[in-house]
Amino acid sequence: MQAKSAEWYTAVALRNMFALFFFMALWLLPVSGMAAELEGQWYWQAEAGTEWQPFDFPHTPPLDNHDDKVWLKTTLPDMLPKDASLLMQSRDQAFEVWVGDECIYRYGELRPAFMAYGQRWHIVNLPKGSAGQDLRIHAYSPSDHNLGYFGKIWLDSDVDQVLRIFRQDIPYLMNIPLAAFLLVLMLIYAGSPAAPKRLYKSFIAFMSAFLVWMVCATNSKQYLFDAPLFWRFFMQLSEYLLPLLANIVIFQVVDRKGKWLMRWTVLAYALLLVGVLAAEFMGFNGMSRGLALFYVLLPLLELVALYAIVRSVHYGNMYAKAVSVPLVFMAGAGTIDGLSMYRHWYVMEGHILPYTTLSLCVFAAFIVRNQIKRERMLMTREKGLKQEVTQAIEKATTDNLTKCYNRNKLEVVLATEILQHKNEEEPFTLVMMDIDFFKRINDNYGHEVGDVVLAGFAQTIRQNIKRKDLFVRWGGEEFLILFRHCTGEEAMMIAERLRSKVEETPLHDGRIHITSSLGVASWHGAEDSEAKLLKRVDEALYMAKRTGRNRVCREPKNNMHWFKNLYSDDKTE
Ligand code: GH3
Ligand code: MG
Ligand code: MG
Repeated sequence: MQAKSAEWYTAVALRNMFALFFFMALWLLPVSGMAAELEGQWYWQAEAGTEWQPFDFPHTPPLDNHDDKVWLKTTLPDMLPKDASLLMQSRDQAFEVWVGDECIYRYGELRPAFMAYGQRWHIVNLPKGSAGQDLRIHAYSPSDHNLGYFGKIWLDSDVDQVLRIFRQDIPYLMNIPLAAFLLVLMLIYAGSPAAPKRLYKSFIAFMSAFLVWMVCATNSKQYLFDAPLFWRFFMQLSEYLLPLLANIVIFQVVDRKGKWLMRWTVLAYALLLVGVLAAEFMGFNGMSRGLALFYVLLPLLELVALYAIVRSVHYGNMYAKAVSVPLVFMAGAGTIDGLSMYRHWYVMEGHILPYTTLSLCVFAAFIVRNQIKRERMLMTREKGLKQEVTQAIEKATTDNLTKCYNRNKLEVVLATEILQHKNEEEPFTLVMMDIDFFKRINDNYGHEVGDVVLAGFAQTIRQNIKRKDLFVRWGGEEFLILFRHCTGEEAMMIAERLRSKVEETPLHDGRIHITSSLGVASWHGAEDSEAKLLKRVDEALYMAKRTGRNRVCREPKNNMHWFKNLYSDDKTE
């Protein structure tokens, strides 16, 4: 049996956790809304004095399109709980609550208001002696979709009503921290140089809209900031924005043909948003009215999106596969939520959409995993490149035959040495060497043997200096060594040792004996220069040749006028 990878286990664990939470969500909604619903037959009339007609609460009464006011009526039960109060929702309507002949609660004025009345919950305390009385609601709304809509009306003690308000928030309060954390995580990962920037940007925009929507959907926000219009506006705005931004995310991941399709769905949502916003600001309740069209468009356009995704998955696009998880869950949950709002399927007001945050985690995990893979690949590539560069530099700075550095390297190192020790006296020393009568070897044994001898000579030297000493082939059979932190005196001793080693070491299977001449020159502070130094070491070598070869000569003292200066400075002290 093949061993399962850690990734496989993570995927399974994530999937199961997700399924568990999702079903918990479905279960939580009905449980938290049990009992205490105001039961009893409801009646409606368009105007006072006309006949009362029964209707099926909490559905809105069958009003004419031009109606903007309605009376609703039911009878309160004979037994009321202690501190009895009603909990009700209102959407874009003003209303009054009457018990018997007394108006006990008023929200807004029963006439048009700037941009409607927003969305709000209300706790309406019932006065003593309300038991068994008629409960009447007089409502005004320019939107036929909202007129007469109060969600379910709960009858309970006011303490229990407050608890109910918080209990209804469980889906949101559970998922807001998770979504916020996910958003922060995405913001951090988007900063990586290997991040697919556009995908992150659109996903972050979507997550932000989702968070805004969840905050707007809570009941608790009313305790923080009681501004029904503000919350209603942002809730509806985010509702329209969610599928728009989701489709932009999908646009980023699907293939070419898919992108073409997604462009149209995004355009459709964008046009709808612009349309409803314009209608809203012109005072037609555009955002509420547009919802009917929105909930028809949503499943249709998301089917198009799903087609684009399935197509891309078919051609092996893994991003598309990952994005299909949140799409299916979110579009599904959104459609169910939308339908429930009309059909009153849920026992209480609420959404299952917040729980799909977990499906977003699945997608986020995929993006991050892929990014890490990419980063790993880039790192390996970078390592390879670095190696190639190092090799190229080495090749450009070494001599093939002798494996010594060449002049390119010397130039760089010498420049740095000079820069670091510009004003110091004898901080480093150069030794130049040249094989004696090398032409004869070439003439007697041939050029190839000459090469072997050259390499052998370099090998002898290398074995007798330290790694930190820079050994350079200066050209032909001339070599240069840069001894760091070494005075002329010290270098003279090393050079002498090298000279005798060369003399003692026969080359070419012991058949050829060579000798060499060496010149020594040091750096002499601020007034010295690279050209002067090279000239001096060359002169020293020339001196060794001229005075009989197979010897070491130091730079001529009469050239060192700075020594004189130094000497006179010492004297004056
Ligand atoms: P001396 O230095 O003692 O004055 O005599 P020399 O015969 O060594 O004279 P010089 O340094 O001027 O000659 C250098 C010769 O080295 C000339 C050239 O043919 C030979 N040579 C230079 N580079 C190479 C090389 O890469 N391989 C071989 N085989 N010979 C080289
Ligand atoms: Mg020579
Ligand atoms: Mg020479």
